[in-house]
Amino acid sequence: MALITYLTTIKFGFGEIAGIEADLAGLGIARPLIVADKGIVAAGLVDAVSRHAGVLKNAPVFGDTPTNPTEEAVEAALALYRQHGCDGLVAIGGGSPLDLAKGVALLATHDGPLETYAAILGGIPKVTAGVAPVVAIPTTSGTGSEVGRAALITLKDGRKLGFISPHLIPRLAICDPELTMGLPAWLTAATGMDAVTHCIETYLSPRENPPAEAIALDGLRRAVAHIGRAVKDGSDREARKEMMMAALQGGMTFQKGLGAVHALSHPLGGLKEVSLHHGTLNAVLLPAVLRFNAPSAEAKYAEIRRVLGLAPDTDLADWIAKLVASLGMPATLTAMGAPRSVIPAIAEAATLDHSSATNPRPATAADYAAMLEASF
Ligand SMILES: [Zn+2]
Repeated sequence: MALITYLTTIKFGFGEIAGIEADLAGLGIARPLIVADKGIVAAGLVDAVSRHAGVLKNAPVFGDTPTNPTEEAVEAALALYRQHGCDGLVAIGGGSPLDLAKGVALLATHDGPLETYAAILGGIPKVTAGVAPVVAIPTTSGTGSEVGRAALITLKDGRKLGFISPHLIPRLAICDPELTMGLPAWLTAATGMDAVTHCIETYLSPRENPPAEAIALDGLRRAVAHIGRAVKDGSDREARKEMMMAALQGGMTFQKGLGAVHALSHPLGGLKEVSLHHGTLNAVLLPAVLRFNAPSAEAKYAEIRRVLGLAPDTDLADWIAKLVASLGMPATLTAMGAPRSVIPAIAEAATLDHSSATNPRPATAADYAAMLEASF
C-alpha cells in the first residue's frame, strides 16, 4: 500500500513576488496577518514583499517568531490575528515563521489547546479543511516548509512536536530566489544542509513512494552541486535558484517520512537552555546517522554515490563530513554549545519522534545515544 499525494501550488522564479496582490485576491485573503521574525524584518524582506500589494502595506505584522517556534508565540500571533479580524496569513522567512503561521492558521479555526492536534498524540485526523489559508514565502533555501504539511512547534512543557496534515500545506508557495540573495553565508550553509538532509532521509525512508525518491535524488544532486557556490558567493544567481529548487524538492518529498537525523534534531531544537539551529544540527548529526544506517541501505547508498558522481568505494558519511567542513560549519554538537548531559533525555525523545518510524534501520534509545555520543 502506498499513499502518494502532491497538492501544492508553487510559483517559482526570480520576480514572482511581484504578482502577490493578484495571488491574495485569488485566494480570497483581504485582511492578512504577516508572520516573520526579527531578522526578516531587519533585513527589509517584509517591506520587499509588502510593497507589491495594497492589502499588505497596512497589514499587522507579527515579527517575534523565535528561532524554534513556540506555543506561546503561536498564541501571541493568534491574538493579533483576532484583534485585526484577519482572514489569512502571509508567512515570510525560514522554517520558523512558516511553521508558526501554520500553527496560527490551525488555531484560528480549531479549538485549542494546540497539543490536541499533535501527530504523535493522534491529532492528524482532527485537523480539518477549515484551516485558515496560508501563503508561504521562503527567504531561505532549506526548510521546505513552504510545501510541507508539517509544522514543528515547541509546547509550553518543552516538547517539540510535529503537527501534520495535508490541510496545513500552504495554499500557495511563492518561491522567488531574489528574496534569498541577501542570506548570510552561515545561514546559506545551514539551511542548505537542511535541504540536503531532507533529500537523503526521505530517499532512505522505507515507505513506498518512487516519485518522491526520484525528486529527492534530483534535489540532492542540485543541492550538492550548488551549496558551495551559494555559500562562497551569495550573489551567484544560478546557485541561489538551484538551492531554492533543491529545498522545494526536499519539502515536496518528505511526505515519505524523514529519519534518525530529524528524530534527533527535533528534540535538540526544543532545548530551552541552548538555542540550536535546525539545519546546523542536521549537518552535524548526518555523518553518525549515515554510519548507523549503512548496513540497512547499501543499495540506496550506491545509488546516491552514482547520482553524485562519487567513486563506488566512497564512504558517504566521511564525504558528508568533509562537505560540512568545507562550508565552514561546526563539526560537533560540542562546538554548537550543546551540553553532553542532554544525551539520555534526547535519545529517549528521539524514539518517540514521528520521524523515527521511517528511519531505514530501527533505532533504540541506546542506538540514538551512541549516534549522539559520536556527534559530540
Ligand atoms: Zn529539516
